[in-house]
Amino acid sequence: MPVSSHPTHVVIAGGGVAAVECALALRDLAGDRVRLTIIAPAPDFELRPMRTAEPFSRGHVRRHPLDDLAAQVGAELITDSVVRVDADGHSVLCAGDRTVAYDALVLAVGAQHRTAFRHALTFTGDRSTLSFNGLLADIDEGYAHTVSFVVPPGTTWPLPLYELALMTAHEAWSMGIEDIRMQLVTPEDAPLALFGPEGSAAVAKLLDTAKIAFRGTCYTRQDADGRAVVLPDDEPLDSQRVVALPTIEGLAIGGVPADERGFVDVDEHGRVTSLADVYAAGDATTSPIKQGGLACQQADAVAEVLAAAAGADVHPTPFRPVLRGRLMAGRGAAYLEHSLHGGAGDTPPREMRLWSVAHKIDGKYLSPWLAGFEDGDAKAPVIDHAGDLIIDVALPAAIPAT
Ligand SMILES: Cc1cc2nc3c(=O)[nH]c(=O)nc-3n(C[C@H](O)[C@H](O)[C@H](O)COP(=O)(O)OP(=O)(O)OC[C@H]3O[C@@H](n4cnc5c(N)ncnc54)[C@H](O)[C@@H]3O)c2cc1C
Repeated sequence: MPVSSHPTHVVIAGGGVAAVECALALRDLAGDRVRLTIIAPAPDFELRPMRTAEPFSRGHVRRHPLDDLAAQVGAELITDSVVRVDADGHSVLCAGDRTVAYDALVLAVGAQHRTAFRHALTFTGDRSTLSFNGLLADIDEGYAHTVSFVVPPGTTWPLPLYELALMTAHEAWSMGIEDIRMQLVTPEDAPLALFGPEGSAAVAKLLDTAKIAFRGTCYTRQDADGRAVVLPDDEPLDSQRVVALPTIEGLAIGGVPADERGFVDVDEHGRVTSLADVYAAGDATTSPIKQGGLACQQADAVAEVLAAAAGADVHPTPFRPVLRGRLMAGRGAAYLEHSLHGGAGDTPPREMRLWSVAHKIDGKYLSPWLAGFEDGDAKAPVIDHAGDLIIDVALPAAIPAT
Protein backbone atom coordinates (compact mmCIF):
# COMPACT_ATOMS: atom_id res chain seq x y z
CA MET A 1 0.00 0.00 0.00
CA PRO A 2 2.04 3.02 -1.20
CA VAL A 3 1.83 6.31 0.73
CA SER A 4 -0.26 8.79 -1.29
CA SER A 5 -1.38 12.37 -0.87
CA HIS A 6 -4.98 11.14 -0.44
CA PRO A 7 -6.11 9.64 2.84
CA THR A 8 -5.90 5.86 2.88
CA HIS A 9 -9.40 4.42 2.85
CA VAL A 10 -9.53 1.76 5.58
CA VAL A 11 -12.67 -0.38 5.74
CA ILE A 12 -13.25 -2.18 9.04
CA ALA A 13 -15.67 -5.12 8.86
CA GLY A 14 -17.21 -5.67 12.31
CA GLY A 15 -18.70 -3.69 15.17
CA GLY A 16 -17.29 -5.61 18.12
CA VAL A 17 -14.25 -5.47 20.35
CA ALA A 18 -11.47 -5.61 17.73
CA ALA A 19 -13.31 -3.28 15.34
CA VAL A 20 -13.88 -0.56 17.93
CA GLU A 21 -10.31 -0.81 19.21
CA CYS A 22 -8.93 -0.64 15.67
CA ALA A 23 -11.06 2.38 14.69
CA LEU A 24 -10.07 4.34 17.81
CA ALA A 25 -6.40 3.38 17.47
CA LEU A 26 -6.27 4.30 13.78
CA ARG A 27 -7.81 7.71 14.30
CA ASP A 28 -5.38 8.37 17.16
CA LEU A 29 -2.27 7.13 15.35
CA ALA A 30 -2.96 8.17 11.77
CA GLY A 31 -5.18 11.25 12.21
CA ASP A 32 -6.52 12.47 8.87
CA ARG A 33 -4.11 10.28 6.92
CA VAL A 34 -6.89 7.68 6.94
CA ARG A 35 -10.53 7.73 5.90
CA LEU A 36 -12.57 5.19 7.85
CA THR A 37 -15.61 3.13 6.95
CA ILE A 38 -17.11 0.65 9.41
CA ILE A 39 -19.40 -2.12 8.13
CA ALA A 40 -21.33 -3.90 10.88
CA PRO A 41 -24.62 -5.82 10.79
CA ALA A 42 -26.01 -4.49 14.10
CA PRO A 43 -26.34 -0.86 15.19
CA ASP A 44 -24.76 -1.32 18.63
CA PHE A 45 -21.53 -2.44 20.24
CA GLU A 46 -22.28 -4.97 22.99
CA LEU A 47 -20.07 -5.60 26.02
CA ARG A 48 -21.04 -9.27 26.23
CA PRO A 49 -18.63 -10.44 28.96
CA MET A 50 -21.00 -8.92 31.51
CA ARG A 51 -23.58 -11.56 30.45
CA THR A 52 -22.21 -13.92 33.14
CA ALA A 53 -23.00 -11.28 35.78
CA GLU A 54 -26.65 -10.82 34.76
CA PRO A 55 -28.24 -13.88 36.42
CA PHE A 56 -26.60 -12.82 39.69
CA SER A 57 -27.57 -9.14 39.43
CA ARG A 58 -23.90 -8.14 39.45
CA GLY A 59 -24.02 -6.19 36.21
CA HIS A 60 -25.58 -6.28 32.78
CA VAL A 61 -24.55 -6.31 29.14
CA ARG A 62 -23.84 -2.78 27.92
CA ARG A 63 -24.83 -1.56 24.47
CA HIS A 64 -23.40 1.55 22.87
CA PRO A 65 -24.52 2.89 19.47
CA LEU A 66 -21.90 2.49 16.77
CA ASP A 67 -23.23 5.80 15.44
CA ASP A 68 -21.53 7.46 18.41
CA LEU A 69 -18.25 5.73 17.64
CA ALA A 70 -18.51 6.68 13.96
CA ALA A 71 -19.13 10.32 14.89
CA GLN A 72 -16.22 10.30 17.33
CA VAL A 73 -13.69 8.85 14.89
CA GLY A 74 -15.17 10.50 11.78
CA ALA A 75 -16.08 7.22 10.10
CA GLU A 76 -18.84 6.32 7.70
CA LEU A 77 -21.02 3.61 9.28
CA ILE A 78 -22.69 1.08 6.98
CA THR A 79 -25.17 -1.28 8.61
CA ASP A 80 -24.62 -4.46 6.61
CA SER A 81 -22.52 -7.67 6.58
CA VAL A 82 -19.52 -8.41 4.42
CA VAL A 83 -20.12 -11.62 2.48
CA ARG A 84 -17.24 -11.64 0.00
CA VAL A 85 -13.84 -10.01 -0.40
CA ASP A 86 -12.44 -9.30 -3.84
CA ALA A 87 -8.82 -8.82 -2.85
CA ASP A 88 -7.61 -8.24 -6.43
CA GLY A 89 -10.27 -5.58 -7.00
CA HIS A 90 -9.81 -4.10 -3.47
CA SER A 91 -13.54 -4.22 -2.67
CA VAL A 92 -16.03 -6.04 -0.46
CA LEU A 93 -19.51 -7.21 -1.33
CA CYS A 94 -22.16 -6.81 1.37
CA ALA A 95 -25.27 -8.93 2.02
CA GLY A 96 -27.39 -5.97 0.91
CA ASP A 97 -25.68 -6.14 -2.52
CA ARG A 98 -23.62 -3.02 -1.97
CA THR A 99 -19.96 -3.00 -3.05
CA VAL A 100 -17.49 -0.97 -0.99
CA ALA A 101 -13.99 -0.20 -2.29
CA TYR A 102 -11.00 -0.02 0.08
CA ASP A 103 -7.28 0.65 0.14
CA ALA A 104 -6.91 -1.57 3.21
CA LEU A 105 -9.45 -3.94 4.76
CA VAL A 106 -9.56 -5.05 8.41
CA LEU A 107 -11.64 -8.15 9.11
CA ALA A 108 -12.85 -7.99 12.72
CA VAL A 109 -15.94 -10.14 12.25
CA GLY A 110 -15.55 -12.37 15.34
CA ALA A 111 -16.56 -16.02 15.38
CA GLN A 112 -19.70 -18.12 15.65
CA HIS A 113 -20.80 -20.28 18.56
CA ARG A 114 -21.91 -23.90 18.22
CA THR A 115 -23.81 -25.86 20.84
CA ALA A 116 -21.62 -28.74 22.02
CA PHE A 117 -24.38 -30.76 23.77
CA ARG A 118 -28.11 -30.61 22.96
CA HIS A 119 -29.02 -31.59 26.54
CA ALA A 120 -27.13 -28.83 28.29
CA LEU A 121 -27.62 -25.20 29.04
CA THR A 122 -25.18 -23.62 26.57
CA PHE A 123 -23.92 -20.24 27.74
CA THR A 124 -23.08 -18.26 24.63
CA GLY A 125 -23.06 -14.73 25.92
CA ASP A 126 -25.92 -13.87 23.57
CA ARG A 127 -29.23 -14.62 25.26
CA SER A 128 -28.33 -17.08 28.00
CA THR A 129 -29.45 -15.12 31.03
CA LEU A 130 -33.08 -16.33 31.10
CA SER A 131 -32.13 -20.02 30.89
CA PHE A 132 -29.58 -19.54 33.63
CA ASN A 133 -32.21 -17.89 35.82
CA GLY A 134 -34.24 -21.09 35.35
CA LEU A 135 -31.32 -23.16 36.66
CA LEU A 136 -30.96 -20.90 39.71
CA ALA A 137 -34.71 -21.26 40.37
CA ASP A 138 -34.39 -25.07 40.13
CA ILE A 139 -31.55 -24.99 42.66
CA ASP A 140 -33.55 -22.71 44.94
CA GLU A 141 -36.66 -24.92 44.75
CA GLY A 142 -34.67 -28.11 45.36
CA TYR A 143 -35.08 -29.65 41.88
CA ALA A 144 -31.36 -29.53 41.09
CA HIS A 145 -28.78 -30.84 43.58
CA THR A 146 -25.97 -31.71 41.18
CA VAL A 147 -24.62 -29.42 38.49
CA SER A 148 -21.71 -29.97 36.08
CA PHE A 149 -20.04 -27.05 34.35
CA VAL A 150 -18.45 -28.41 31.19
CA VAL A 151 -15.75 -26.88 28.97
CA PRO A 152 -16.05 -28.82 25.70
CA PRO A 153 -12.87 -29.64 23.78
CA GLY A 154 -11.99 -26.86 21.34
CA THR A 155 -13.35 -24.05 23.51
CA THR A 156 -10.72 -21.38 23.69
CA TRP A 157 -11.94 -18.99 26.40
CA PRO A 158 -13.05 -21.00 29.44
CA LEU A 159 -13.11 -18.12 31.97
CA PRO A 160 -16.88 -17.40 31.73
CA LEU A 161 -17.67 -20.94 32.88
CA TYR A 162 -15.54 -20.51 36.00
CA GLU A 163 -17.38 -17.28 36.71
CA LEU A 164 -20.75 -19.00 36.35
CA ALA A 165 -19.71 -21.91 38.60
CA LEU A 166 -18.29 -19.67 41.33
CA MET A 167 -21.21 -17.25 41.29
CA THR A 168 -23.70 -20.16 41.30
CA ALA A 169 -21.99 -21.58 44.41
CA HIS A 170 -22.17 -18.21 46.08
CA GLU A 171 -25.83 -17.83 45.11
CA ALA A 172 -26.65 -21.28 46.51
CA TRP A 173 -25.02 -20.42 49.84
CA SER A 174 -26.85 -17.14 50.04
CA MET A 175 -30.12 -19.05 49.49
CA GLY A 176 -29.12 -21.27 52.43
CA ILE A 177 -28.66 -24.33 50.19
CA GLU A 178 -25.87 -26.63 51.35
CA ASP A 179 -26.68 -30.00 49.77
CA ILE A 180 -25.57 -29.01 46.27
CA ARG A 181 -22.69 -30.75 44.49
CA MET A 182 -20.94 -28.96 41.66
CA GLN A 183 -18.06 -29.97 39.44
CA LEU A 184 -16.07 -28.26 36.73
CA VAL A 185 -15.21 -30.65 33.90
CA THR A 186 -12.54 -29.46 31.47
CA PRO A 187 -9.72 -30.57 29.14
CA GLU A 188 -7.40 -28.14 31.00
CA ASP A 189 -4.93 -29.88 33.30
CA ALA A 190 -5.32 -27.17 35.97
CA PRO A 191 -7.97 -24.51 36.65
CA LEU A 192 -7.64 -21.74 34.04
CA ALA A 193 -4.25 -23.18 33.12
CA LEU A 194 -3.85 -20.46 30.45
CA PHE A 195 -3.01 -18.02 33.21
CA GLY A 196 0.10 -19.92 34.28
CA PRO A 197 0.84 -21.74 37.54
CA GLU A 198 0.26 -18.86 39.94
CA GLY A 199 -2.94 -17.59 38.35
CA SER A 200 -4.15 -21.16 38.17
CA ALA A 201 -3.32 -21.82 41.83
CA ALA A 202 -5.34 -18.76 42.82
CA VAL A 203 -8.32 -20.00 40.79
CA ALA A 204 -7.95 -23.49 42.32
CA LYS A 205 -8.20 -21.90 45.74
CA LEU A 206 -11.40 -20.10 44.77
CA LEU A 207 -12.92 -23.37 43.51
CA ASP A 208 -11.87 -25.14 46.68
CA THR A 209 -13.39 -22.49 48.91
CA ALA A 210 -16.60 -22.70 46.87
CA LYS A 211 -16.57 -26.54 47.21
CA ILE A 212 -16.56 -26.99 43.44
CA ALA A 213 -14.78 -30.21 42.43
CA PHE A 214 -12.25 -29.77 39.61
CA ARG A 215 -12.11 -32.58 37.01
CA GLY A 216 -9.22 -31.68 34.74
CA THR A 217 -7.72 -33.38 31.66
CA CYS A 218 -11.26 -34.53 31.03
CA TYR A 219 -12.49 -34.70 27.44
CA THR A 220 -16.19 -34.93 26.66
CA ARG A 221 -18.27 -35.65 23.60
CA GLN A 222 -21.98 -35.59 22.74
CA ASP A 223 -23.65 -39.04 22.73
CA ALA A 224 -26.53 -40.05 20.45
CA ASP A 225 -29.05 -38.59 22.95
CA GLY A 226 -27.32 -35.22 22.93
CA ARG A 227 -25.81 -35.68 26.41
CA ALA A 228 -22.24 -34.92 27.46
CA VAL A 229 -20.28 -38.09 28.19
CA VAL A 230 -16.68 -38.40 29.32
CA LEU A 231 -14.10 -40.03 27.05
CA PRO A 232 -12.66 -42.58 26.56
CA ASP A 233 -15.45 -44.81 28.01
CA ASP A 234 -18.47 -42.55 27.38
CA GLU A 235 -19.01 -42.30 31.12
CA PRO A 236 -22.18 -40.28 31.95
CA LEU A 237 -21.66 -37.10 33.96
CA ASP A 238 -23.95 -38.18 36.81
CA SER A 239 -25.41 -34.73 37.11
CA GLN A 240 -28.98 -33.40 37.10
CA ARG A 241 -28.02 -30.25 35.23
CA VAL A 242 -25.19 -29.51 32.79
CA VAL A 243 -24.01 -26.02 31.90
CA ALA A 244 -21.61 -25.88 28.94
CA LEU A 245 -19.72 -23.37 26.90
CA PRO A 246 -20.18 -23.45 23.15
CA THR A 247 -17.41 -24.41 20.80
CA ILE A 248 -16.17 -21.60 18.58
CA GLU A 249 -15.84 -21.64 14.80
CA GLY A 250 -14.76 -19.05 12.28
CA LEU A 251 -17.20 -17.32 9.91
CA ALA A 252 -16.60 -18.20 6.31
CA ILE A 253 -16.23 -14.96 4.34
CA GLY A 254 -16.05 -15.59 0.61
CA GLY A 255 -12.66 -14.91 -0.96
CA VAL A 256 -10.80 -15.17 2.36
CA PRO A 257 -8.68 -18.28 2.91
CA ALA A 258 -9.41 -19.99 6.23
CA ASP A 259 -8.33 -23.11 8.11
CA GLU A 260 -10.57 -26.16 8.55
CA ARG A 261 -12.37 -24.46 11.47
CA GLY A 262 -13.00 -21.28 9.50
CA PHE A 263 -10.30 -19.13 11.14
CA VAL A 264 -8.14 -16.69 9.18
CA ASP A 265 -4.36 -17.02 9.33
CA VAL A 266 -2.46 -13.77 9.98
CA ASP A 267 1.15 -12.79 10.62
CA GLU A 268 2.32 -10.95 13.77
CA HIS A 269 1.14 -7.62 12.33
CA GLY A 270 -2.30 -9.00 11.51
CA ARG A 271 -1.74 -9.28 7.74
CA VAL A 272 -3.87 -12.01 6.20
CA THR A 273 -1.60 -14.62 4.71
CA SER A 274 -1.74 -14.49 0.91
CA LEU A 275 -4.11 -11.48 0.51
CA ALA A 276 -2.55 -8.06 -0.16
CA ASP A 277 -3.87 -5.16 1.95
CA VAL A 278 -6.22 -7.39 3.97
CA TYR A 279 -5.76 -7.63 7.75
CA ALA A 280 -7.65 -9.46 10.49
CA ALA A 281 -7.88 -9.23 14.27
CA GLY A 282 -9.72 -10.93 17.11
CA ASP A 283 -11.75 -14.12 17.33
CA ALA A 284 -11.83 -14.41 13.53
CA THR A 285 -8.13 -15.27 13.41
CA THR A 286 -6.31 -18.54 14.06
CA SER A 287 -4.92 -17.13 17.33
CA PRO A 288 -5.91 -19.97 19.67
CA ILE A 289 -7.17 -17.95 22.66
CA LYS A 290 -10.39 -16.11 21.82
CA GLN A 291 -10.33 -13.29 24.34
CA GLY A 292 -11.32 -9.64 24.11
CA GLY A 293 -8.09 -8.26 25.55
CA LEU A 294 -6.04 -10.20 23.03
CA ALA A 295 -8.41 -9.10 20.23
CA CYS A 296 -7.62 -5.47 21.21
CA GLN A 297 -3.87 -6.07 21.23
CA GLN A 298 -4.08 -7.64 17.78
CA ALA A 299 -6.22 -4.71 16.55
CA ASP A 300 -3.61 -2.28 17.91
CA ALA A 301 -0.87 -4.10 15.96
CA VAL A 302 -2.97 -3.78 12.77
CA ALA A 303 -3.67 -0.08 13.43
CA GLU A 304 0.02 0.62 13.91
CA VAL A 305 1.03 -1.02 10.67
CA LEU A 306 -1.73 0.79 8.75
CA ALA A 307 -0.89 4.15 10.34
CA ALA A 308 2.78 3.72 9.42
CA ALA A 309 1.86 2.76 5.85
CA ALA A 310 -0.31 5.89 5.64
CA GLY A 311 2.72 8.01 6.51
CA ALA A 312 2.27 8.50 10.28
CA ASP A 313 5.36 8.52 12.47
CA VAL A 314 4.62 5.16 14.05
CA HIS A 315 6.91 2.16 14.43
CA PRO A 316 4.70 -0.90 14.21
CA THR A 317 5.20 -3.37 17.02
CA PRO A 318 4.21 -6.98 16.43
CA PHE A 319 1.39 -8.66 18.36
CA ARG A 320 2.93 -9.89 21.65
CA PRO A 321 -0.01 -11.18 23.65
CA VAL A 322 -0.43 -10.42 27.33
CA LEU A 323 -3.40 -12.16 28.90
CA ARG A 324 -5.27 -10.08 31.46
CA GLY A 325 -8.30 -11.51 33.15
CA ARG A 326 -10.88 -10.37 35.62
CA LEU A 327 -12.69 -13.33 37.07
CA MET A 328 -15.97 -12.49 38.78
CA ALA A 329 -16.13 -14.92 41.64
CA GLY A 330 -18.95 -13.82 43.92
CA ARG A 331 -18.65 -11.97 47.17
CA GLY A 332 -16.91 -13.51 50.13
CA ALA A 333 -14.10 -15.35 48.36
CA ALA A 334 -10.45 -14.39 48.71
CA TYR A 335 -9.29 -11.48 46.55
CA LEU A 336 -5.93 -11.50 44.81
CA GLU A 337 -4.19 -9.66 42.04
CA HIS A 338 -1.40 -11.38 40.15
CA SER A 339 0.99 -9.91 37.67
CA LEU A 340 2.93 -12.63 35.90
CA HIS A 341 4.70 -10.78 33.10
CA GLY A 342 6.80 -13.30 31.24
CA GLY A 343 8.36 -14.80 34.36
CA ALA A 344 9.51 -11.37 35.58
CA GLY A 345 7.94 -12.19 38.92
CA ASP A 346 4.66 -11.54 40.68
CA THR A 347 3.54 -8.33 42.24
CA PRO A 348 2.23 -9.15 45.70
CA PRO A 349 -1.53 -9.65 45.94
CA ARG A 350 -3.25 -6.38 46.72
CA GLU A 351 -6.75 -5.59 47.74
CA MET A 352 -8.89 -3.81 45.12
CA ARG A 353 -12.59 -4.19 45.62
CA LEU A 354 -13.88 -1.76 43.04
CA TRP A 355 -13.42 -1.79 39.31
CA SER A 356 -15.49 -0.54 36.48
CA VAL A 357 -17.11 -2.91 33.98
CA ALA A 358 -15.34 -0.85 31.29
CA HIS A 359 -12.24 -2.85 32.20
CA LYS A 360 -13.75 -6.34 31.92
CA ILE A 361 -12.11 -6.37 28.51
CA ASP A 362 -8.73 -4.73 28.68
CA GLY A 363 -8.18 -2.57 25.58
CA LYS A 364 -5.76 0.35 25.31
CA TYR A 365 -8.43 2.40 23.52
CA LEU A 366 -11.59 0.37 24.16
CA SER A 367 -11.50 0.57 27.97
CA PRO A 368 -11.22 4.38 28.15
CA TRP A 369 -13.91 4.64 25.43
CA LEU A 370 -16.27 2.50 27.49
CA ALA A 371 -15.36 4.34 30.68
CA GLY A 372 -16.33 7.58 28.91
CA PHE A 373 -19.96 6.38 28.76
CA GLU A 374 -19.92 5.74 32.48
CA ASP A 375 -18.50 9.14 33.43
CA GLY A 376 -21.72 10.94 32.65
CA ASP A 377 -24.02 8.12 33.77
CA ALA A 378 -25.07 8.28 37.40
CA LYS A 379 -26.49 4.76 37.13
CA ALA A 380 -23.26 3.26 35.79
CA PRO A 381 -22.08 1.21 38.70
CA VAL A 382 -18.55 0.78 39.86
CA ILE A 383 -19.46 -2.61 41.25
CA ASP A 384 -18.20 -3.97 44.54
CA HIS A 385 -16.33 -6.93 43.15
CA ALA A 386 -14.87 -8.18 46.42
CA GLY A 387 -13.76 -11.72 45.76
CA ASP A 388 -12.94 -11.18 42.11
CA LEU A 389 -9.58 -12.18 40.77
CA ILE A 390 -7.42 -10.13 38.45
CA ILE A 391 -4.75 -12.06 36.61
CA ASP A 392 -2.14 -10.69 34.26
CA VAL A 393 0.30 -12.93 32.40
CA ALA A 394 2.54 -12.52 29.35
CA LEU A 395 2.07 -15.25 26.78
CA PRO A 396 4.69 -16.68 24.46
CA ALA A 397 4.67 -15.09 20.99
CA ALA A 398 3.40 -18.35 19.50
CA ILE A 399 0.52 -19.32 21.76
CA PRO A 400 0.14 -23.08 22.13
CA ALA A 401 -3.31 -24.42 21.19
CA THR A 402 -5.50 -25.59 24.09
C1 LIG B 1 -19.93 -15.05 27.92
C2 LIG B 1 -18.61 -14.46 27.46
C3 LIG B 1 -17.78 -13.87 28.40
C4 LIG B 1 -16.54 -13.34 27.98
N1 LIG B 1 -15.73 -12.76 28.94
C5 LIG B 1 -14.60 -12.12 28.54
C6 LIG B 1 -13.83 -11.37 29.48
O1 LIG B 1 -14.14 -11.32 30.67
N2 LIG B 1 -12.73 -10.72 29.03
C7 LIG B 1 -12.33 -10.77 27.73
O2 LIG B 1 -11.33 -10.14 27.38
N3 LIG B 1 -13.04 -11.49 26.82
C8 LIG B 1 -14.17 -12.15 27.19
N4 LIG B 1 -14.91 -12.84 26.27
C9 LIG B 1 -14.40 -12.98 24.90
C10 LIG B 1 -14.63 -11.72 24.09
O3 LIG B 1 -16.00 -11.31 24.16
C11 LIG B 1 -14.26 -11.99 22.63
O4 LIG B 1 -12.97 -12.56 22.56
C12 LIG B 1 -14.25 -10.67 21.84
O5 LIG B 1 -15.54 -10.13 21.79
C13 LIG B 1 -13.69 -10.89 20.43
O6 LIG B 1 -13.72 -9.68 19.73
P1 LIG B 1 -13.98 -9.65 18.15
O7 LIG B 1 -14.02 -8.22 17.78
O8 LIG B 1 -13.04 -10.55 17.49
O9 LIG B 1 -15.42 -10.29 17.97
P2 LIG B 1 -16.80 -9.71 18.45
O10 LIG B 1 -16.64 -8.84 19.64
O11 LIG B 1 -17.70 -10.89 18.55
O12 LIG B 1 -17.28 -8.78 17.26
C14 LIG B 1 -17.54 -9.27 15.98
C15 LIG B 1 -18.31 -8.19 15.24
O13 LIG B 1 -18.38 -8.51 13.85
C16 LIG B 1 -19.71 -8.36 13.40
N5 LIG B 1 -19.86 -9.23 12.23
C17 LIG B 1 -20.14 -10.56 12.17
N6 LIG B 1 -20.17 -10.97 10.90
C18 LIG B 1 -19.89 -9.89 10.14
C19 LIG B 1 -19.80 -9.69 8.74
N7 LIG B 1 -19.96 -10.70 7.88
N8 LIG B 1 -19.52 -8.45 8.29
C20 LIG B 1 -19.33 -7.41 9.14
N9 LIG B 1 -19.43 -7.56 10.49
C21 LIG B 1 -19.70 -8.78 10.97
C22 LIG B 1 -20.54 -8.74 14.60
O14 LIG B 1 -21.86 -8.27 14.49
C23 LIG B 1 -19.75 -8.04 15.69
O15 LIG B 1 -20.07 -6.67 15.73
C24 LIG B 1 -16.14 -13.40 26.64
C25 LIG B 1 -16.98 -13.99 25.71
C26 LIG B 1 -18.22 -14.52 26.09
C27 LIG B 1 -19.09 -15.13 25.06
